[in-house]
Amino acid sequence: MGVVVLKFGGTSVSSIEKIEKTAEQAIREKEQGHQVVIVVSAMGKSTDKLVQMAEQISKLPSKREMDMLLTTGEQITISLLAMALQAKGANAVSFTGFQAGIETERVHGNARILDIESERIRAALAENKIVVVAGFQGITHDGEITTLGRGGSDTTAVALAAELAALKCAICTDVDGVYTTDPRYVTGTIKLEQLTYDEMLELANLGAGVLHPRSVEYAKNFKIPLEVRLSHGETSGTMIEEVLDLENTKVVRGIAFEDGITRITIHWSRKEDMRVSKVFTELAKNNVDVDIIIQGITGLGHGNLSFTLKTAALLNALAVLEDKKGEIGYEQLESEQDLAKVSIVGSGMVSNPGVAARMFEALTENKVPIKMISTSEIKVSTVVPERDMVKAAQVLHDTFELEKA
Ligand code: ADP
Ligand code: ASP
Ligand code: MG
Repeated sequence: MGVVVLKFGGTSVSSIEKIEKTAEQAIREKEQGHQVVIVVSAMGKSTDKLVQMAEQISKLPSKREMDMLLTTGEQITISLLAMALQAKGANAVSFTGFQAGIETERVHGNARILDIESERIRAALAENKIVVVAGFQGITHDGEITTLGRGGSDTTAVALAAELAALKCAICTDVDGVYTTDPRYVTGTIKLEQLTYDEMLELANLGAGVLHPRSVEYAKNFKIPLEVRLSHGETSGTMIEEVLDLENTKVVRGIAFEDGITRITIHWSRKEDMRVSKVFTELAKNNVDVDIIIQGITGLGHGNLSFTLKTAALLNALAVLEDKKGEIGYEQLESEQDLAKVSIVGSGMVSNPGVAARMFEALTENKVPIKMISTSEIKVSTVVPERDMVKAAQVLHDTFELEKA
């Protein structure tokens, strides 16, 4: 007998009817002789609604209170699901993140899991109970409630699967697997049977919202085979695992895109004054994540530095940079909003140098201006105007013939 961890996202538990279906699925899993842990998200769009309520009160609400608010969403689902299980005759218990022993660092809104004290879950499993755990939340060493970042229930599930040495971890959602790109926006997408951890990690980090990036990091580090599949159906999904037969897979396997990107450019009139490290140290101190970075020096000895960040972090970043202007020593700072990042990903790219060129050609031919570029062994990312994002994704999907299996 082994442990299985199943995670159900917001749309999969958006109504009482769906919660009941989820309960039935958990019971079926239990009847197969497994010990069952179910991780759930808040019902439907309820986290968004809570965020909107907070925004009606303040533009920059306290991060601690935000976590206090947002964790209530998952608490509703766990109790209703445990009740649904009990009503169907199953032995079940619900746990908040705190009760499940999920200890995090003290970073409100985007905390990492540090440790899981799983005694309580193990004891409940030993008593033959189906254990229902609130996703997305944890507790600091000193008792503060934290959240793991939007979409973080995936990470709760994979972290629990690692801690409990689970046989499998399935992320049950509203799509029947990971597609070549987001099927809501691009036509001709197809479901991928398998992806490597690294490919999925890149796709998730580059904006494919189907999995929380840290959940893939966990799965990779603890070698947990991860399945993404449809919540209430029997079809098999996409397996994310260590290695694939790369000979038989395409060079480009998937496309990810993300809107809400801003580029900040800082100018110095003398390259000797450039305090580039200071820029990033100060931003990091204030938990501002930056992404693509380009540094330039002109023939006239001027220097400039451009980097991208999420537009949501812009106000915070500008406040930090203006406050430290003297120490950083720059003359001028500008920002360009309404940008997006569109990326191609595939393990086979390492040995195919022409891929990036084909990508740039296709975008240019289709009049999509490329504002920034960043590459790694298995991905190429471009920053483009937000209004061209979906067109760029479609053009690249067509160019690399991802619609063909
Ligand atoms: P959940 O609430 O179950 O966590 P999410 O909305 O977080 O579900 O993730 C599922 C959604 O991810 C899908 O509805 C789909 O629109 C989006 N998505 C983005 N990229 C992909 C992709 N490559 N393959 C499948 N779905 C994707
Ligand atoms: N409810 C949270 C969110 O909407 C966490 C999750 O769904 O994974 O982001
Ligand atoms: Mg999700």
